[in-house]
Amino acid sequence: MIKIPTNVLIVDDEKDFVEMFGLRLEEAGEKVFRAYSGKECLEVLDKENIDVVVLDIKMPGMDGIETLTELKKRHPIVEVIMLTGHGTIETAVQGMKLGAFDYLLKPANVDEIGAKLEGARKRKDEQEDRIRKAEQRSLLRRGGNI
Ligand SMILES: [Mg+2]
Repeated sequence: MIKIPTNVLIVDDEKDFVEMFGLRLEEAGEKVFRAYSGKECLEVLDKENIDVVVLDIKMPGMDGIETLTELKKRHPIVEVIMLTGHGTIETAVQGMKLGAFDYLLKPANVDEIGAKLEGARKRKDEQEDRIRKAEQRSLLRRGGNI
């Protein structure tokens, strides 16, 4: 079976974590993009067709929640998995209420991220499919007299 890579953007101020995690996801067949701040995350999202963002909560400057809020305003269909330590699970839950798909506890294990990525990708694909169908229906209705 041919795997269609998910375009994943990893956002964390810890460069070592981004590198290590990025390599693991690349080994698993995903297409990985990297950002080291909330601001950089939004810049990448404007340029690239990202499916899922893996977003650290604790970052200097724009933190994960601020970044998530702005991201969902600009790109509502992009799915987000929050990255959290034991001390910030409540914040991750708050993130889910703001539209994040799920959260992942650091240090993140690759099997766990694999399953969550798949779920996030599926939710985005299904939503895009629903939008496409709704657009087609609206076009058909408009063209109804022809
Ligand atoms: Mg951090």
